[in-house]
Amino acid sequence: MSHILDGKQLAVIGDPIEHSLSPLIQQAMLDELGIRCSYGRIRVPAGTVAAWLPGAPDLNLAGFNATMPHKTDLVPLMDTLSDDARMYRAVNTVVIRDGRFHGHNTDGEGFLRSLHDEGVRPEGKRVVVYGAGGAARSVVLKLAAQGVENIAVCCRTPAKAEELARASTRVSVIPLQDQRFVDVLKRAELFINCTPLGMQGVPSQFESFDFLDALPSSAPVCDLIYRPLKTRLLKEAERRGHQTMNGLGMLIHQAILALEQFASQPLDAERMKAAVSKKLLPALGHAV
Ligand code: NAP
Repeated sequence: MSHILDGKQLAVIGDPIEHSLSPLIQQAMLDELGIRCSYGRIRVPAGTVAAWLPGAPDLNLAGFNATMPHKTDLVPLMDTLSDDARMYRAVNTVVIRDGRFHGHNTDGEGFLRSLHDEGVRPEGKRVVVYGAGGAARSVVLKLAAQGVENIAVCCRTPAKAEELARASTRVSVIPLQDQRFVDVLKRAELFINCTPLGMQGVPSQFESFDFLDALPSSAPVCDLIYRPLKTRLLKEAERRGHQTMNGLGMLIHQAILALEQFASQPLDAERMKAAVSKKLLPALGHAV
């Protein structure tokens, strides 16, 4: 039986785009499902996505994923927006049907599913989110919508996070230098790093990990980074007895959710995770 994606193309757009893992992840799933569709990468320079988009259907594209720097620029260009894309005001998945563009965002739900995979249920908990960039935005708004008791966004530039606090009464913004940072850590039940500190190729690192001493050891520590799979933060947290998790689960789940939109069908997440891991872990330098 033929599939709606057979003979079509999918891609990820962004700039830079060479290092995106989306082609590897999505192709592994398409191949596992026996769908005859190839997934590529297209460099679309910053500020040019509005000019590029009208020509996308002519490229035989059934849809595409978007990464830096296009997620926000795509929002006003969509014919329809999913609830999550509207909530984050960012699009990471675009489905093209009959020349119309349907914008989705799978980041927050992908993160939530990765927490559930590790047995972490954030509902009703007190959470500390470190950082306030694009990834933090989807994590914070998703958690707030999910009924998390309290989310303290602890960050270097509080002005950038004020909008998150306005979006939900469950969210508060705390500067890193503020004594309240230590106070919220002491009561936290989950800690999430949403900064690139400790990421491969990024020179900056946490200046000190002493702040972890304030965090109860029962609080899981989560890092959105997946390169390396175990950051210094996760090693330090593990040493202090915390459950830890990296960003690989979020990366894979947001991709599965995106393919569900492209393919217009629910997918078996465990089967997809197994197919992706076989290709992805060697690419990240780890044995399967
Ligand atoms: P972003 O929009 O550039 O935001 C980065 C955040 O980190 C900002 O709040 C920034 O603060 C803060 N920051 C940077 N250096 C800092 C420092 N030295 N001290 C304190 N705060 C610092 O980046 P993003 O897109 O949110 O991505 C953040 C991380 O999440 C990256 O490592 C990315 O790889 C990862 N991520 C993973 C997934 C996944 O699927 N696992 C998905 C998305 C993102 P300022 O505003 O003050 O600069």
